[in-house]
Amino acid sequence: MDNCLFCKIIKGDIPSTKVYEDDKTYAFRDIAPMAPTHVLVVPKAHVSGMNTIDELDDATLSACLRACCKVAELEGLTGGFRTVSNCGDDACQSVQHLHFHVLGGKKLSEKMD
Ligand code: AMP
Repeated sequence: MDNCLFCKIIKGDIPSTKVYEDDKTYAFRDIAPMAPTHVLVVPKAHVSGMNTIDELDDATLSACLRACCKVAELEGLTGGFRTVSNCGDDACQSVQHLHFHVLGGKKLSEKMD
């Protein structure tokens, strides 16, 4: 997608701090971290979000979840971590390319809203 921020990051047209990459996924540090570790895991294939997940093949979807766990391992999040994917206006999704936030490195809030 020509106009997608995360597609540009995946291509290297916009700089990012890479944490992990494989053939189907790319993981990089969030520019406005909300925890000591705050990494975004994205599929290299463009899908707008969780509400269009049917456009993504199962191998890529599972690769995203495995990449989240790999990031947690690489970041040493032995005490636990949180994985979140915001979808749509009510969830304040701001970038229309499916992404999973991986948060950790401190005791996170019990509140999910
Ligand atoms: P969401 O609000 O769930 O759509 O998450 C989008 C995330 O992308 C936010 O946490 C932003 O801080 C993050 N973000 C926006 N632009 C960049 C960028 N250039 N590099 C890294 N993270 C970014």
